[in-house]
Amino acid sequence: MVKKSITLNNGERITYQLDCRARRTVGLKITEDGLIVHAPKFILEAQLKKLIKEKSNWISNKLAAREANAITPMTWQDGETLQLLGSGITLYVEENARNKQPQFNHDSLTIATPAPDNHELIQRKVIQWYKKQALLDFGRRLALFAAKLNVPTPPLKLSNARTRWGSCSSRGDIRMNWRLLQAPPHLINYVICHELAHLKEMNHSTKFWAIVASLYPDYKAAEKDLKHIGTTLYRI
Ligand SMILES: [Zn+2]
Repeated sequence: MVKKSITLNNGERITYQLDCRARRTVGLKITEDGLIVHAPKFILEAQLKKLIKEKSNWISNKLAAREANAITPMTWQDGETLQLLGSGITLYVEENARNKQPQFNHDSLTIATPAPDNHELIQRKVIQWYKKQALLDFGRRLALFAAKLNVPTPPLKLSNARTRWGSCSSRGDIRMNWRLLQAPPHLINYVICHELAHLKEMNHSTKFWAIVASLYPDYKAAEKDLKHIGTTLYRI
């Protein structure tokens, strides 16, 4: 096997392992080590590169999925890193005679409790804190963009959905997945603008996307980023 690298059609540069042997076709496989290309012994480099590039989307998606699966699970212990608005913050767990409110300080969140080894309790406390912050943070953004769209600020609820970041009901209330608080602010803004636009258009028509664009011009890039980051937000 030889290590090689290639730039895919979407501009992503990846490395792969090339395994040349007596075979007639080129086969691509994604393993724990990344992309492995099995190719005939005497294939021309240019031809091989062309074949790999043709599969750019497939490779890119498979590698992203592999990355997502490789996320280390949270253990809810002292020193873990949490994500907040796109930045890493450290979770500190302190033993204390009393249960105290979680303390947030720039780049850390401290949980003081008589039971620092009770990981379920730590998890519950951290998630409670995230939900509380999510309501405040999303609420502010919602009011801002609702004003921009010239509509009254709709009621905001949090969701725990497995597959969606936001939704807008026919009654006009907006649900936002609290896990999105981990994402960079521009992605939260995008999801909010998307749901607000549904107040005017309950579909994904051209008209709908024009409203989204009036609130959030670079929505295509945001959609892409969100797909990329998506699964990592389910770490907690
Ligand atoms: Zn939608």
